[in-house]
Amino acid sequence: MKLVLNPQIPPDQEAGIQTMLAQDGCVTRTITDNGSRVIGIIKKGTRNPDKYQDIPGIDRVLPVSTAHKLVSREFQSEDSRVAINNVVVGGDRIVVIAGPCAVESLDQAMTIAKQVRRYGAVLFRAGAYKPRSSPYSFQGLEEEGLKILAQVREETGLGVVTEMTSPDQAPLMEKYVDAVQIGARNMQNFELLKCVGKMGKPVVLKRGLAATIQEWLMSAEYIAAGGNTDIILCERGIRTFEPYTRNTLDLSAIPVLKQLTHLPIVIDPSHATGIREKVSPMARAAVAAGADALMIEVHHDPDHALSDGPQSLYPEQFGRLMRDIYTIAPVVGKQLDFDYLKKTALIHELDEKASRTAAFIGEFGAYSHKAAQAYFGDDITPVPMKEFTDIFAAVAAGRAEYGVIPLENSLSGSIHENFDLLQEYDLKIIGDITIRIQHALIAHKGAAKEQITQVLAPPPALAQCRNYLAQYPWMSRVPVGATSRAVKQVKDSGDKTCAAIASTMAAEIFDMEILDESIEDNPRNFTRFAVIAKEFKGRKKVAKTSIIFSTGNKPGALFEVMKVFNTYGINLVKLESRPIHGKPWEYMFYADLEADILHKDLASMKQSLEENTETFRVLGRY
Ligand code: PEP
Ligand code: MN
Repeated sequence: MKLVLNPQIPPDQEAGIQTMLAQDGCVTRTITDNGSRVIGIIKKGTRNPDKYQDIPGIDRVLPVSTAHKLVSREFQSEDSRVAINNVVVGGDRIVVIAGPCAVESLDQAMTIAKQVRRYGAVLFRAGAYKPRSSPYSFQGLEEEGLKILAQVREETGLGVVTEMTSPDQAPLMEKYVDAVQIGARNMQNFELLKCVGKMGKPVVLKRGLAATIQEWLMSAEYIAAGGNTDIILCERGIRTFEPYTRNTLDLSAIPVLKQLTHLPIVIDPSHATGIREKVSPMARAAVAAGADALMIEVHHDPDHALSDGPQSLYPEQFGRLMRDIYTIAPVVGKQLDFDYLKKTALIHELDEKASRTAAFIGEFGAYSHKAAQAYFGDDITPVPMKEFTDIFAAVAAGRAEYGVIPLENSLSGSIHENFDLLQEYDLKIIGDITIRIQHALIAHKGAAKEQITQVLAPPPALAQCRNYLAQYPWMSRVPVGATSRAVKQVKDSGDKTCAAIASTMAAEIFDMEILDESIEDNPRNFTRFAVIAKEFKGRKKVAKTSIIFSTGNKPGALFEVMKVFNTYGINLVKLESRPIHGKPWEYMFYADLEADILHKDLASMKQSLEENTETFRVLGRY
């Protein structure tokens, strides 16, 4: 049973309801879900719960029909996000936890941690207490191992996750690590579950070797009932009759869990398969199936590993897998962010006066809003703006810390206005992000496709859905400025014969109905956004540089510039020409290079570029 309170409820009225429930003998937990306070009654009191319906401040009394309550999707509809230090599991970013099976020595742990960090892992895993099938196998370094983990965090900045096998380890875990893991063999060790339920650390709860999803969720419920809701579910393979792999990875658990629970899901393909060659294919599949995170065993010398060597990836293999994940993630609306740790550090260093906002174009639910969220996570607040120039002006004036602007779409090409604005304003590109554009046809609740006579969308979106719209000749196309604005306009009009083309996120935000999803003609529809700021901050390693330059109006002028790139073996990933304001037939060139042009080793190249151009400016390094 849950009580959904009125979103405008004053705090003293809510407190009154809580007191009444306590007096009735109810045991409750309160959350905020979709903007409303929700009280879950986990143990009924003396009063018939239906009676709560009449109490002022309570909007609805709804049943929670599943056996698991606090962790159920019925209780909390929004996805949970679990923070391990600065890293958030759940949401748009794929989190990768990597490291050896066990801590073997300081040197071993540090070597592997540095390698996995270099390749993009954001959390480190390694066991100090190892539950082994044989009492004669290596049992772990115990407290010494935990101390090593704390040192790894100190030196690398990676949060550390380790297995806890007994309640008496709780004080040491609190002291040394950032998250605890309940191993498969302990999934139903209820005393251990009760213990971690009282701890102040996030818990990675592995699925038992022969546990059903229901049993697994009930174990999670034990932890939540104890008061700790920072739970991440880890599928690590279950026992089946199949001997070709150590276990059978149940990837179908992902969509099943996504429906049953709000908790984030991590997939461990290492223990699932037990065989190195099988790890990467299953990791890729896990991301495609909707996993929030991966846990991968990596060892620099697996032949001499004290446990699970045969399933541990070599660091370089792990690096290749990370590149695959980076490519796959946008297809399912997520990102593998190689800059995640740097970014969180940067955001935490922002001074108090900083606005902590990112300006984007359109209304909430715009693709630019999605891009801002995917780039920054929840650390920065996205702020809508009417025009692209408003974004540049806000960043230049310090009213917004960052701006997120679309630069190019894989189908409809460049957004020229932004190239012009980059030329006009002295701002810097500090990062970029590519997201998949999946359009939906959105209308009022209860509207039917047959009734729709007008479809509002910006011209590129209409063009991207041409084949889809051709099926409905009775729908006329109305061009508007932005997708999210189209949804707002349809909403405000109250007209059930109008629809908009926009993201499903916009439909949710405006509480509208999705008539059709994925209506773009070509599914390979991606938009690249640039993140702009006043200054370059805190970047040590730079992979790309964006420059803008002009050449004299003489034969071979551009060729001379291209020759410089050729001489230095620099890969050019984009070249775009734009007319110069007020100088007909003269052009500026915008280029992206795979190099850090400000690096001292390329000083002579920069000089040659300056010599061969009339104007030259570095727009961005990221
Ligand atoms: C581990 O993660 O090293 C481990 C022992 O996992 P599991 O409990 O899944 O076997
Ligand atoms: Mn292991």
